[in-house]
Amino acid sequence: MGICSATGIAGAWAGDPGVVRAIESVSADLGKVKGLLDRSGRGDCDPSVPGLLPGCSEKIEEFCEKLHSPRHRGNIELPWGGRTEKVLLGRNPQGFSQVFAELERAKLASRNRLPKEFARKLEKRDYFGKMARYLRAKPPRSASLREVQANSRLGGELSSIWNDSVNEVLQEKMVQRHPGYLKLESFSPEISREYDGLERELHAEIYRSIWSGSARWKQVEKDFATVRSEYLRFLEESKELDPALKSDWIARIKSVTLELPGSDPDNLDHGCATTTRNAYYNWLKDRITICAGDFNSGNELFTIAHEFSHALGIHRSLYLQEKNTELATRLRSLASAVCDQATVGACPKEWAGVKERFPELAAKLIPRGGDLAPSETMVSGGFSEDSEERFSDALGSRVFARILKQVPELEGRRNLYYSSIAWTCSRPSMENTYPEEAQAEKEFSLEPHSAGKQRRLEGLTAPVREALGCAKDFEAKECAL
Ligand SMILES: [Zn+2]
Repeated sequence: MGICSATGIAGAWAGDPGVVRAIESVSADLGKVKGLLDRSGRGDCDPSVPGLLPGCSEKIEEFCEKLHSPRHRGNIELPWGGRTEKVLLGRNPQGFSQVFAELERAKLASRNRLPKEFARKLEKRDYFGKMARYLRAKPPRSASLREVQANSRLGGELSSIWNDSVNEVLQEKMVQRHPGYLKLESFSPEISREYDGLERELHAEIYRSIWSGSARWKQVEKDFATVRSEYLRFLEESKELDPALKSDWIARIKSVTLELPGSDPDNLDHGCATTTRNAYYNWLKDRITICAGDFNSGNELFTIAHEFSHALGIHRSLYLQEKNTELATRLRSLASAVCDQATVGACPKEWAGVKERFPELAAKLIPRGGDLAPSETMVSGGFSEDSEERFSDALGSRVFARILKQVPELEGRRNLYYSSIAWTCSRPSMENTYPEEAQAEKEFSLEPHSAGKQRRLEGLTAPVREALGCAKDFEAKECAL
């Protein structure tokens, strides 16, 4: 199947029969999605947009060169639509990574929101005064050896004050609950579990305090709302989309929630809550997390559009389908019967019922004959990502293209685009210097949102190219919807 034909969503997985069958089974009817084509679908083959511009990938390479030039060193300000996007992927004048400095500044700003007993411990050892001094230190290139060493010791002291304070708060909470806690020679599983639970809750409270008041996070909340509205318009305006599927997808986009990084004690990810550049859609909780490194280093509209698309993707669809099977429903009621002591007598009967029909019910769980592996690199068919990710890139880029088109100035649109993909510009890198080795390494890695040139090119879908006013000057397979 040619990548330039607008032949319905099946085109997105040309060459992946297992995945196509899975989508058929979860969407009920592949034909229903057929109409969700971009009306410029035929433009996929058009090498140029009249009156406009040079090649897309050439423009982006130019931007990446500029971003990592000695003048900018990974930091650049890009104005668009009355807003200035700060891309902060380099170091600040003091030599700290910008994302780390943003985190530490956010900690300083949150001192009155932090859990009281924790903040008191930090104050007692002058954490905030020392941190302000640490962040103002002379950069290594203009400092003496003694100054560099003193500042490095101060950095170590700051981490130990932070960690000691967390540990002391937890210890005090445990002693309060169990006065003999410190005398225990070893901890029972129950005590360890209690401690772990308190630790997760404390960390979640700390991360909530750090980020909830941050201006950058407030922007993420606004951008999340913008993307959701645009996504809904995109679906509503897709006349060819089957009405039942359309209303299902609309409902799914409406139900997605946004999570402040690190705020859920059951889902703590310290890297994501501090400096990692990434984002996730949790298909069990129907929730998007934008990691702190992401919203502190560039624009995240494209990322949010991509993550929303996972709510329509294979994993979420399979989960919803399986959750609604008779087997899942019966297992849930069995679980609640087991947990509810009042009805414990009902269990043997319930269990016998489930056991008897288990093979029949379980067979319905696997509608595709077991040949689906959406994350399997073997079915990636020459794309940089697996089919779940490609689906999200294909739909996400269409929603993002609509947002781009709302920026009146072409230069502003391009700036918005650059600020969204700046994180994929890395130089010098393994990928640029040793492309074959980098590709070989990637085949065996499980990183879900990889950067890299190929991914960047795949993101330049026809609607995005049209919005940016540039031509396809590269070879990359395209998901034609
Ligand atoms: Zn993804």
